[in-house]
Amino acid sequence: MVHWSPFIQSFKKKYPWVQLAGHQGNFKAGDFGTVLKKHCPREQRCLLSLMTDILRPYIPEYKGEVDKNGEKYIQMQDLLQDFDSPSVMDCKLGTRTYLEDELSKAREKPKLRKDMYQKMIDIDANEPTDEENKLGAITKPRYMQWREHVSSSACLGFRIEGVKKGDGHSSRDFKTVKTKEQIGESLNYFVEGDQIVIAKYIRRLKAIRATLEASPFFSSHEVIGSSLLFVHDKNGKASVWMIDFGKTVPLPEGDSNDHRTPWIEGNREDGYLFGLDNLIDIWSCMVKS
Ligand code: ATP
Ligand code: MG
Ligand code: MG
Repeated sequence: MVHWSPFIQSFKKKYPWVQLAGHQGNFKAGDFGTVLKKHCPREQRCLLSLMTDILRPYIPEYKGEVDKNGEKYIQMQDLLQDFDSPSVMDCKLGTRTYLEDELSKAREKPKLRKDMYQKMIDIDANEPTDEENKLGAITKPRYMQWREHVSSSACLGFRIEGVKKGDGHSSRDFKTVKTKEQIGESLNYFVEGDQIVIAKYIRRLKAIRATLEASPFFSSHEVIGSSLLFVHDKNGKASVWMIDFGKTVPLPEGDSNDHRTPWIEGNREDGYLFGLDNLIDIWSCMVKS
C-alpha cells in the first residue's frame, strides 16, 4: 500500500461536496475520490453495462457496491474531485420524467400523494382540479406531468434542476424556467458569461451527442430522469457527465429508441436527444463571435 504517495494524498484532500438533486441522505462521501449513492439495482445494472459501452468516458466510473452501517451503496467516481471550488449544475434530460410503467401502475392503483399536492399549490394554487382540491392529494404521474409543463421539460426536452456556484450562491428555484430566453439567462448566471467555459461545455456536449447516437446501450434503453452534470471552476476547467440511471430501463429485446421521436404512450420514447439538441443550441447562442 502506498498511502503517502502524493497521488493518494491529493485524492484524500477534503473538499465540500455538493448535491443538487435527490433526497439528502441518499449520498455519502466515499474514500479516495468516490461518492456512495444508496443502492438501486436498476442503476447498478446500468452503470455496470455502461462501463463496457462507448459512453464510458462520459459516465462516473462505477467502483462496485459497498456496505456501510448495514446499508448497501453504489460506489462511483466523485466528479467534483479534480475541481477547485466547483460550480455545479444539474440538468434533467427528456420530455418525459416518469416511466411508462409508473403511469400504468398509477392507473391500476392510484396512490394519492398529499405532499405532491402541497408542492403543486406552492407554485400554482389554481392548478388542482375541484376533485383534487377536495382530496387534497394528487397522483405522482399527475405531479410529474404538471412539472414537465411548467418547466422547459415538455417544450425543450430538458430542465435545470439546480445550480451551485463556486462562490457559494445556489438555487433550486428553476421550476418555472421554461422559455429558451429564460434558460439562456439561467445558463449565463451559472457561467457568468465565461466564454472559455461555454466553449468547453459545447465541445463536450457535442462529443456526448455523437457518442449517444452510436451507443448500443443508449439505443436499447428508455432513459428517464437522467441528468447531465456540468462542472467548472475559476481556473477554466470545465466538463459534463451523464448521471442518475435509477430510471433507465432496457427496451424489449430487439426494440430501439431514437430519443427524438415525440412520445406517445407505448413507444417508450423519452426525448433525450431532442433535449440535448435544444441545450446545445441554447449554449451556442451564448457564444460571442
Ligand atoms: P433524483 O432522482 O431526485 O434526481 P437521485 O437520488 O437519483 O436524485 P442523483 O440525481 O443521481 O440522485 O444525484 C443527485 C445529485 O448528487 C446530483 O445533482 C449531483 O449534484 C450529485 N452527484 C450525483 N452523482 C455524482 C457524482 N458521481 N459525482 C459528483 N456529484 C454527484
Ligand atoms: Mg437526478
Ligand atoms: Mg434519480
